[in-house]
Amino acid sequence: MENFGVKIEANQISQTEKDNLLEKLENSFFDLDIYGEKKQEFNINDMKINFEFSECEFNYVMDKFRAVPSTHYKDEYAEEWKELKNLKIKTETGTISFLEWLPDDWKIIVDSEIPKRDRNGDTDFNEKIISLGAVDLSSLQGIITLAHEIGHVASTINTSESEMKKYFRNIEEFTSGRVYKFPINKEAAEDVISKERDAWAVAFKILKPLIKSGILSKNNLVDYVHKTSKESLSSYSDHFKWYIDNELLKD
Ligand SMILES: [Zn+2]
Repeated sequence: MENFGVKIEANQISQTEKDNLLEKLENSFFDLDIYGEKKQEFNINDMKINFEFSECEFNYVMDKFRAVPSTHYKDEYAEEWKELKNLKIKTETGTISFLEWLPDDWKIIVDSEIPKRDRNGDTDFNEKIISLGAVDLSSLQGIITLAHEIGHVASTINTSESEMKKYFRNIEEFTSGRVYKFPINKEAAEDVISKERDAWAVAFKILKPLIKSGILSKNNLVDYVHKTSKESLSSYSDHFKWYIDNELLKD
């Protein structure tokens, strides 16, 4: 389906299929405790997974996941978060070194205390922080979300500063236009959607060893990316369609 030159995702799987897929991907398959040992190693069949965590200081990006004001002081709240210093997954068909996909000045922070919300991950280009709240890194969904957020950084490494500024404005426009029902430019919507596609393209590359060794089914990943996840392309397409249906897309 084509609309205004932007490909709209077909949403063909049933709610039951969606629920089953999410249940499968959200399932935690090893015993990670981000508040436990700094270094943790897991051996699952032919796969070896290494984590390394450290403490992290408060940063405002931590706030993006909270729905209500905190009852904690900022340093107490920061204790809920850990910095992911290393995550390596070694499979029969190759090793994924997640941090190696990021420039050195980027950080990944995680919090497993946050209740499930409408977003899983965030990439903050000002602070150079990827934050993961409400996802479990011992599930395939958590690993996919991390790969997607890294994809946002890796796919825009060569993007100029002015183009990035425009992208941030486009995200604001794309998001608040729906909240406050104002018309937005077609280019803004296209930019946001194409950056999402680019980030997913990198995520597929990162996750290749998991796909090749059969740990993550390619069909499941494709369905997840296109049809089910909260950050899926279909949710962006739905958003785009809303603008068309409400005649709020300017050419
Ligand atoms: Zn994204």
